[in-house]
Amino acid sequence: MSTAFAPEIPDDRPVEILGLGRARLEAFFASLGEKPFRAVQVMKWLHQRGVTDFSQMTDLSRALREKLAQVACVTLPDVVVDQASRDGTRKWVLRLEGGNSVEMVYIPEDDRATLCVSSQVGCSLACTFCSTGRQGFNRNMSTAEIVSQLFLANRLVEREVVPGRKITNIVFMGMGEPLLNFDAVCEAAEIMMEDNAWGLSKRRVTVSTSGIVPAMDRLLERVDVSLAVSLHAPTDSLRDELVPINRKYPLAELMAACDRYAPRCPTGAITYEYVMLKDVNDTQAHADALIRLLHGREAKVNLIPFNPFPMSGYERSSFARIAKFQQRLVAAGINTIPRRTRGEDIDAACGQLVGDVDDRARRDEKLRKLGVVVAPGAASTC
Ligand code: SAH
Ligand code: SF4
Repeated sequence: MSTAFAPEIPDDRPVEILGLGRARLEAFFASLGEKPFRAVQVMKWLHQRGVTDFSQMTDLSRALREKLAQVACVTLPDVVVDQASRDGTRKWVLRLEGGNSVEMVYIPEDDRATLCVSSQVGCSLACTFCSTGRQGFNRNMSTAEIVSQLFLANRLVEREVVPGRKITNIVFMGMGEPLLNFDAVCEAAEIMMEDNAWGLSKRRVTVSTSGIVPAMDRLLERVDVSLAVSLHAPTDSLRDELVPINRKYPLAELMAACDRYAPRCPTGAITYEYVMLKDVNDTQAHADALIRLLHGREAKVNLIPFNPFPMSGYERSSFARIAKFQQRLVAAGINTIPRRTRGEDIDAACGQLVGDVDDRARRDEKLRKLGVVVAPGAASTC
C-alpha cells in the first residue's frame, strides 16, 4: 500500500471517516480485512444520504457495522451562531473540537446554492483589509472538518431553509489560506468532486488563494479545481502593502503561475478577485495599471465591494467608482463583474464574527518564517 494513502488512523482514537477520500477509505477497509468496494458503499451513505449512524448502513454486514462503530466516527461541529440575512444569505459560526470557531456562509441564487467554506482557523497572511487576517493564525482544519461544513450546510439548508435544496457550488473563500493547508484542502476537494460522494464538477469547486506560488503549481499536479486569485492591486508596491505575501511572491512570479494554471480552469481563465477600497486601489490609474498587468491574458475579474469591519481603516469604494472601474476594464476587453454584496445586514465579511483574537505577534512570527519582512505596523492600517 502506498504510504501516500495510508489511512493515518491513530491507534487509540476512532478515525474521522468524513475526512477519508476514496483511496484512503479503501486503504482503511483493507486494514480491516475488507474489500475496497466497501469504500464506495460507505461514501454513498455518508455523503449522499447523510447517514452517520453505521448501524443504519444496511448493505454492510452486521459484523462490519459493529466494527465501524468501534473504529470510526463522524464528528460534526456545533453551530454556535446562526445569522440569516434578508437576502437569503445565511452565516453559521461553527465550534470545532478544541473550542476553535470558524465561519461558513450559504449564498443562494436562482440557479445555484454556493457554500463558502473555511480551511484554517484564522490566517497567518495578514492582508490588511481582511478581518480574518487581523486575527492571526490558530491552526489548520482537518479534511474531516472541512468536509463537515458541506455535510452540515446541506443538512441545515434541507431542514431550515428550503427542503430539497442542495449545495451546488463550493468556494474556499472563508477563513484561512487554503493553499497553506494544502493536503487537507486537496483531499476535501477530492471528496467534494468524487462521484460516489458529492459529485460536484470542477467548475463548481473553486479554491481561492492570495498567491502561494509553489502551492499553485502543486495544485495543478494534484487536483482538478477552479482557481481564484486574490489580486487586489496591480503593482508590487501597493500589493506589498495590502497582501503582504506579495513580498515573498511578487506579481511577476504570481502572474507566471497563473498563466501555468489558467488552461486548467473551465473557461481557460483565472478569476482575479479585486476588493474595492476607496482611494486605495480604485482609481482610473489603478484600472489602467490592472489592464496592463492582464494584457494578453485570459482573465475574469471580480470586483468585490469592501466589506467593512470595525477599525479596518478602509472604506468601500462608491458604486459609481466601482462602475467606472469596471467600464474601463470592459472597454479594454477584460471580462469584469462587480460582485453583488450579499449578507450585508449580517456582517458577512468572513472572519468578522469569530471574535477578536488579537494575535498579531504570532502572526508576524509566522510571516517571518515564510520569509516575509514584517515592518512594524506595516500589516495593519488600524
Ligand atoms: N485566503 C484566501 C481565501 C479566503 S479570503 C484568499 O485570500 O484568496 C476570500 C476572499 O475574500 C479574498 O479575495 C479576500 O481578499 C476577500 N476578502 C477578505 N476580506 C474582505 C473584506 N473585508 N471585504 C471584501 N472581501 C474581502
Ligand atoms: Fe488570509 Fe485570505 Fe484574509 Fe489574506 S484575505 S488574510 S490570505 S484569509
